Amino acid sequence: MSRIVALDTADIRFPTSLSLDGSDAMNPDPDYSAAYAIIRTDAGDAGHAFVFTIGRGNDVQVAAIDALAGHLVGRELEPLLDDMGGTFRELIGDSQLRWLGPEKGVMHMAIGAVINTLWDIKAKRAGLPLWQLLAGMTPEEIVDLVDFRYLTNALTRQDALEILRSAHNGRAEREQQLLATGYPGYTTSPGWLGYSDEKLERLAREAMAEGFTQIKLKVGADLDDDIRRFRKAREVCGPDFPIAIDANQRWEVSEAIEWVRALAEFRPAWVEEPTSPDDVLGHAEIARGIAPIRVATGEHAQNRMIFKQLLQAHAIEVMQIDAVRVAGVNENIANLLLAAKFGVPVCPHAGGVGLCEAVQHLSMFDFVAVSGSREGRMIEYVDHLHEHFVTPTVIRGGSYMTPSTPGNGMEMKAGSIADYTWKGQHVFA
Ligand SMILES: [Mg+2]
Repeated sequence: MSRIVALDTADIRFPTSLSLDGSDAMNPDPDYSAAYAIIRTDAGDAGHAFVFTIGRGNDVQVAAIDALAGHLVGRELEPLLDDMGGTFRELIGDSQLRWLGPEKGVMHMAIGAVINTLWDIKAKRAGLPLWQLLAGMTPEEIVDLVDFRYLTNALTRQDALEILRSAHNGRAEREQQLLATGYPGYTTSPGWLGYSDEKLERLAREAMAEGFTQIKLKVGADLDDDIRRFRKAREVCGPDFPIAIDANQRWEVSEAIEWVRALAEFRPAWVEEPTSPDDVLGHAEIARGIAPIRVATGEHAQNRMIFKQLLQAHAIEVMQIDAVRVAGVNENIANLLLAAKFGVPVCPHAGGVGLCEAVQHLSMFDFVAVSGSREGRMIEYVDHLHEHFVTPTVIRGGSYMTPSTPGNGMEMKAGSIADYTWKGQHVFA
């Protein structure tokens, strides 16, 4: 038996606002940041994870992670790891903290960070990358991880078991395919709103040459600019290459429909986050108003219940899970099962800092053990800040190569943690 001796946190911020990397219609000057958590044991090992924020949010997010230390420090680790479903329910069930949500926002994301530190240490002790640890579990073990509360009018434990059992047969073959060819990626790097047209064109050309299956443009600040930039991207990429657009919650519902119709001639592959991430019925209205152009959302979907409603309301045709928005691996397994139940492809949100490293494990697990498909599915990729991770993502021919290092991929290099720990201003500026 080993005991948890500490839940350490760090406030890590990168000065991305200085180069306008990550700029979009709602977030003009993000500093990509990590509210970072490390769980340490008296056996000398540790689990790492973080919540992604874009700067000052770290002040609040780190405090929320610290508020969970009492649940963990001093506890024996193995019983928590052996029953990760129970551990999840214990953490989301702290009634005094639950009052802040329930199951949404800063506290829920903090719980996600803690859950993910435990998955990291569990995978490291098993000697497996997280995706392979999850994909090797039985259907019964996987459903035990999921909290079906509030889901059963759309997805029951029995439904989930059937999905997982029907995927069980081809697992070994799909794992081999994954190891050989990886998981498709698409890139947002050309499309940041703060980039010049020349930079957009150059990066779009490079993305196609590198083998990415799609690019994405940020839109929503100015329609004339969007038309000009989308036209340029179409000229560079040709008539058939998929180009998605992302409004980052900028529009009213009716405005979204009008704006997207004005861009329809350039045939967007999907329209992402057209309006408030909480407006399920608004997304459904937009989906009807712009069909057959697809609506995508999810990077700000605060929990599994929002995804359930988006699917029930036929509001999305592309579901975008995020590794650190909800309460960790457990809740994202619920999200993957919901997508499989409704037959909607999952194309995860990534980028930021470390989101590619983290979320690839979930898509790879999904392909092997849940949906059983890579068809119409791809993981977002942004070429920023990977060098700060112990096991950075490897992209080859536009695809994510399978990570083989044990753990969840979220561990940052000790030197990067030290260098970029917030000191009240950007010392690298
Ligand atoms: Mg987005």
